[in-house]
Amino acid sequence: MHDKNCIFCKIINKEIPSSIVYEDDDVMAFLDISQTTKGHTLVIPKDHYQNFLATPSEVSNKVMEVAKRIGMAQIDMLHAEGVNILTNVNEAAGQSVMHFHVHVIPRYANTDGFKLTFEDNSEKDLNLPSIATKINQGLK
Ligand code: 5GP
Ligand code: ZN
Repeated sequence: MHDKNCIFCKIINKEIPSSIVYEDDDVMAFLDISQTTKGHTLVIPKDHYQNFLATPSEVSNKVMEVAKRIGMAQIDMLHAEGVNILTNVNEAAGQSVMHFHVHVIPRYANTDGFKLTFEDNSEKDLNLPSIATKINQGLK
């Protein structure tokens, strides 16, 4: 299950070189070319799925298991003090490559320049019970 126009499928097929961190039959991890922080790694399934929500759980679970091991190795070997583990779904969320991938971003306290901010809207008049109910009703 590959998409011939997908850059990550090309990386899996070794048509495009990458700095491979880990590889098994189902999962591959390689350094993100942007190196947002030192060691920034992408973990992907070898089969092509559009994003996390479109990926069968048995596949995404394997990807997450590798992401966890990569995060631990970044702490042990690169002396990262923390990690952000995240995946973007759709362009609105910042997804630019439409092959499911998990970013494992090592963090070096206040010195790494990486910013991930959560706007605090708790002062606004939001109807939280209604929002929670809506999401609950949409669960499949
Ligand atoms: P997204 O924005 O879709 O969550 O993340 C895509 C990531 O893929 C970006 O952080 C970008 O730097 C990385 N990327 C895009 N093209 C390549 C490539 O050819 N090689 C590598 N190693 N990373 C890439
Ligand atoms: Zn792909």
